[in-house]
Amino acid sequence: MSQLSLPDVPWNGLRAVNDAAYRIQLAYLLDHSEFYRNKLASAGIASAEEAGGLDDIARLPFTEKDELRASRDENHPIGRHLAAPMTDVVRVYSTSGTTGTPSYIPLTSSDLANWVEISTRSYGASGLAKGERMVTTYNAGPFVAGVTLDAFAKLGVCHIPVGSGNTERLMTAVQLLKPTVLGCTPSYAMHLAEWADERGVDIAASSVDKILVAGEPGGGEPAMRQRIEDAWGARVTEAMGIGDISVSLWGECTHQNGMHFSGTGFVHFELIDPETGASLPIEDGAEGELVYTHLRHEAAPLLRFRSRDRVRLSTGACPCGRDSPRVRCIGRTDDLLIVRGVNVFPSAVRDVVGKIGHGVSGVISIRPKTKSVNQAPPLPVVVELAKDVQPDAALAGLLRKRLRDELLVTTDITLVPFGSLPRTEYKSKLVDWSEAE
Ligand SMILES: [Zn+2]
Repeated sequence: MSQLSLPDVPWNGLRAVNDAAYRIQLAYLLDHSEFYRNKLASAGIASAEEAGGLDDIARLPFTEKDELRASRDENHPIGRHLAAPMTDVVRVYSTSGTTGTPSYIPLTSSDLANWVEISTRSYGASGLAKGERMVTTYNAGPFVAGVTLDAFAKLGVCHIPVGSGNTERLMTAVQLLKPTVLGCTPSYAMHLAEWADERGVDIAASSVDKILVAGEPGGGEPAMRQRIEDAWGARVTEAMGIGDISVSLWGECTHQNGMHFSGTGFVHFELIDPETGASLPIEDGAEGELVYTHLRHEAAPLLRFRSRDRVRLSTGACPCGRDSPRVRCIGRTDDLLIVRGVNVFPSAVRDVVGKIGHGVSGVISIRPKTKSVNQAPPLPVVVELAKDVQPDAALAGLLRKRLRDELLVTTDITLVPFGSLPRTEYKSKLVDWSEAE
C-alpha cells in the first residue's frame, strides 16, 4: 500500500473543502461543547450559521490555554471543552505545560488516526521511509509525541526506541545497529557530539546521516544546526507540533527551507499579531503567532487556539513538490524578555553567540536580575567557551557588539570555561531565574 504523503495533499485548492469541514466542526462544537456554547454566546453567536465560514473566522474569539485549564472541576476532569462521551475516548495524553499543572488531551479513535496521518506526512517529508533505521531518545509514551511511534510504524521505518537517561546505551545502539536516523532534541544532539568527542568516538563516521529534531527551537537556529551537522556529518531537519492541536503539525523536507504545514484538511492555521490579536496575511516573510482551529476533531476540538509560538512564514514552491507554507519558529511568547522595550527571544541570543564560531561551545545562560518579562539593560548573559579556549576580553566585547547590532540589546557578557553550564538530554533551559529578585 502506498503511503499518503504531502504532495498528494495539495495546499492550494483545498479552501472549499476546509471551509465545509469548518462549518460542520462549528455546528458540532455548538451541539457538544458546553465551553464553546458559552464562549460563542458571549460573543453574540448562537448558531453555526451566524459564525459563518473560514473567511469570517477572525471575528470569533480566541481560545487560551488558561481558559481550558480553568474550565476543569471535579465533575469535568478534562474540562468543559470535552465534546465527546468518555466511552468514545480511546486515549488521554498529559502535557506538563509550563506552569506544572498537567492538562489532559483526549482523543477518539478517529482523532488518533488523524494525528497519526498528520505525523506520517510530517516525518515522511523529512525523508523517513521503509529502509530507514531510526534510533530515538524521546520518553514519549505518556506524552502526545507518543503518536509519532505509530507514524513511524505506518511509514515502515525500523524504529529503535532507546529513551533518554542512558547515553551509553544510545551510543551502543548507534554503533551496533547502525541506524541512519537519530531523533532527539537539538540540545541532546549537541550533548551527544560532546560526549563522543570526549571519548574519541568519531560520530561523523557513524551510520547516522539524518537527524530529526523537535521539542525546542534550536534545530531552526542556523548556528546550532550547523554545529550539529558538522559534528555528526548528517543533515538536520526539524518538526513542530502542539499538544492541544496535533503532534508534528509542521515537518521540514530534505530541502531544509523550513517546516511544511502537514495538517492540511485536519487543522486550519492563522497568523496573528501577538500584541494586538489582529490577523496577518499568509504571505512570504510574514511573522507572527500561530493560531489553530480543528477542522474534523471529535474529543476536544479547539477554535482559534493561541499557540504562543512565534514563527516566520515562507510560501511558494518548494523543490520537494509540496506547496504548503513553511515556518521557522522564532521563539515562544512564554520565553520572551523585553529589554528596554525591545523583544528578545533567548534562542535568538543563543544563535547570535553561536555564530561567533569555534571560540564558544554554543551553550549560554541568560541570568535576569528581576523576576519580570521586562528587564533593564544590560542583560546578563553567561557564555560558555569552547574546549581549551581561555577567557578573552576581546571576545566578550565582540559578543556584546554582535548582540547589540543584531538584536538591539545591551548585554553584560560573562565568559566561563567549557563544561561549566548544564547539559540536557531534553530541552535546554536558556534562562536561569535563580539570581532574579
Ligand atoms: Zn519542501
